[in-house]
Amino acid sequence: MRLILLGPPGAGKGTQAQRLVEKHRIPQLSTGEMLRSAVAARTPVGLRAKAVMDAGELVSDAIVNAIVAERIDQEDCARGFILDGYPRTLPQADALEAMLRERSLKLDVVIEFAVDDKALVGRILKRAEEMKAAGQPVRKDDTPEVFEERLREYYKKTAPLIGYYWAKRKLKTLDGMAGIDQVTKQIEAILKDFAEKEKVA
Ligand code: AMP
Repeated sequence: MRLILLGPPGAGKGTQAQRLVEKHRIPQLSTGEMLRSAVAARTPVGLRAKAVMDAGELVSDAIVNAIVAERIDQEDCARGFILDGYPRTLPQADALEAMLRERSLKLDVVIEFAVDDKALVGRILKRAEEMKAAGQPVRKDDTPEVFEERLREYYKKTAPLIGYYWAKRKLKTLDGMAGIDQVTKQIEAILKDFAEKEKVA
């Protein structure tokens, strides 16, 4: 199963991706996490991406496309994967399509998290507090100022993907304002529906 979790920062994609990993035993491919690891390891990609990420802007398509192309060839992705935070632009979506086509693979479903913007800043600040309380490093981009830029980037560059995948009949939308367990239930319902349609086809 290959799926995309689509939604603004703080919508709960990461939390749900982790649950999907446990339940379906397929890896979560979070480009944000991969980039943060590259930054921490001071790799050439990390060094190039750091300032852009700290400002809440998007890293270049070329960089993230290359990271994803390399990652999906790894063995643990053979049964599928959950894309979290990728694609984030129309060129990335086209690149993903080409990547999958070259490997004779198919994208199954895109799950859009519909959320109320006003609640998002609160969620991000809560995440920062929780990380701090757990003694973990707080993300530099989890501040209200940088968050606003991340949200702007989302509406400008990522939200057009909703129409893109709708037109391809891949889009399913859920209520991301529901509680965590309720969102998980909505996802499982979408996946069940999808699995049943596949059986018939
Ligand atoms: P995230 O953890 O998904 O919120 O991503 C954190 C930051 O990493 C973003 O604000 C971007 O700077 C960068 N990033 C993550 N994924 C992508 C992507 N697909 N395209 C461009 N930049 C990305």
